[in-house]
Amino acid sequence: MAATSKKVLVLNRNWCAVGVVCLPKAISLLFTHYEDGEPRAKIITPPPKGSYEVWDWSDWSGLRPQEGEETLISASSVYRIPEVMLLTRYDRMPIQKVNFCRRAIWKRDEYRCQYCGVKPPADECTLDHILPRSLGGDTSWTNCVLACYQCNSQKADRRPEDAFRPRDKERARKWKGPSPMRLLKAPVKPEYSVVNYPLPKGSGLPVSPSVALDYSQVLHQVHRLFP
Ligand SMILES: [Zn+2]
Repeated sequence: MAATSKKVLVLNRNWCAVGVVCLPKAISLLFTHYEDGEPRAKIITPPPKGSYEVWDWSDWSGLRPQEGEETLISASSVYRIPEVMLLTRYDRMPIQKVNFCRRAIWKRDEYRCQYCGVKPPADECTLDHILPRSLGGDTSWTNCVLACYQCNSQKADRRPEDAFRPRDKERARKWKGPSPMRLLKAPVKPEYSVVNYPLPKGSGLPVSPSVALDYSQVLHQVHRLFP
C-alpha cells in the first residue's frame, strides 16, 4: 500500500474518535496553525508503558523511523507515519451520515451473506431486497442486505420465510443457508461516527497502562473498517 493511502484516526480534543482521514490530509492538518501559533493537530503515540505521548510536527519530524517501519519520504528527509492524531481545539462529535449505497450495505453487513453467513468474493456479492420489490419492498437500509449469489438466486422473488432449500441435490449440497431462509440479524440503518470508541478524557497525560490496550483496539477497529 502506498504511504499516501494510509489512514489516520482523528480524535477530538476530548480524545473521542471523530473520523479517519488519509495521510496527506493528516499532514496538512499537522501543518496548519491557529493564529496564536498552536497547531490544529498533534500526533499521539502510546509509549511501551503507561501514558500516551503527544507530538507536534517539529518534534515528530526529528524522530528516527525504526528498522522495517513504513515511512514517508520527502526530498530532504524520512518521517515516521502517524496513526492517530488529536485535534487540539475541536471538541464536537460530528454525526457522520452514511450514504445509502451497495458498498455501505456491504460494510454494515461485514461483507457476509446475511442468510448463509459466508463471505463471498466481491463479484458474488449481491443486494437482496428482503421483501422483494415485486411485493412492494423498498430499497432501504432496513429492507436490503448483502446476499451471496447462491442465496439470492435461491430466494428469488420470495419472502425469506417462503424460500426453502434447493430441490436439486447438487445445489442443496452446496448451499449452507437455513431452510426456510432467515436473516442472521435484522438490518438497521448504521449510525457511524466512524469509530464509536471513546478514549480517555483530558490531555491524555498521564493515563493508565490499561488504556494502552484500548489504543490498540481502536487501531484494530480502524483497520477493520478501512482495510
Ligand atoms: Zn448466502
